[in-house]
Amino acid sequence: MNLQNEILSKHADGAAGRLLNKVAVITGAASGIGKEIALSFAREGAKVVIADLDQHAAQKAASEIDPMGERALGVGMDVSNEEQVERGMAQAIETFGRLDVLVSNAGVQIVAPLVDFDFDKWKKMLSIHLDGAFLTTRAALRQMYSQKSGSIIYMGSVHSKEASPLKAPYVTAKHGLVGLAKVVAKDGVRANVICPGFVRTPLVDKQIPEQARELGISEADVIKAVMLKETVDGEFTTVQDVAEAALFLAAFPSNALTGQSMVVSHGWFMQ
Ligand code: NAD
Repeated sequence: MNLQNEILSKHADGAAGRLLNKVAVITGAASGIGKEIALSFAREGAKVVIADLDQHAAQKAASEIDPMGERALGVGMDVSNEEQVERGMAQAIETFGRLDVLVSNAGVQIVAPLVDFDFDKWKKMLSIHLDGAFLTTRAALRQMYSQKSGSIIYMGSVHSKEASPLKAPYVTAKHGLVGLAKVVAKDGVRANVICPGFVRTPLVDKQIPEQARELGISEADVIKAVMLKETVDGEFTTVQDVAEAALFLAAFPSNALTGQSMVVSHGWFMQ
């Protein structure tokens, strides 16, 4: 059964779905973790907006969920561009009439020793991760305040808690998201951070040869001795693991769980 039929038959069977008719915007959802979150939210009855820099891939992912466009919308959006975020968020709200969940997930990785880090690359990293979170949050809050409901999930990382060499702007930005989530929570909208360990997505696959080069070790050693060294079982976290955590946070029924960060990392980092 294809995904769309699976989703339709599930709801025709009367299965309520943990996010039935909730509207979720997920940034960076044309690939990797964000795409899996969009799929899992749709399976639970949500209407999903897949917002991504890659407009074609965003529309393709949306039409995999619903080719009719009634329950899924693909939107081209650079999260670090104010005008594009305002336009994309407005399109999402206009299309589905409300906004219940924002997953601020879009992100990239650039690794280099701090002493050599190019200033433009530093600014690009902070802009995508932090400006992107701020701009999408600001647009979401206006709608969530007027509805008097909503929930925001930030895609942090174990690097929201822990440092690694070569990743100064990433670690800086991911720590910053924890602060932003706490402010949003204090301001009255439920906000939490998911902190995954290493997940095999294009973002990580790109880093393996880069880190091997920078550290002067083999790619196998980057995986074993760097990425998975501190886990309890030597395993990667999966996109499904992270999507399950996102679903739990999105569907949580009260404000008891807010301003928190949840580490999903096979025990790499324990708080
Ligand atoms: P990915 O490369 O598979 O997907 C990232 C998506 O973000 C892509 O579709 C890309 O087009 C989009 N994107 C990039 N820049 C954008 C921009 N300016 N505006 C809008 N969209 C943009 O990567 P992923 O591993 O799924 O990463 C998703 C999030 O998870 C990131 O925030 C990343 O830091 C975080 N994360 C990943 C891992 C991991 O190991 N993969 C671990 C912890 C946290």
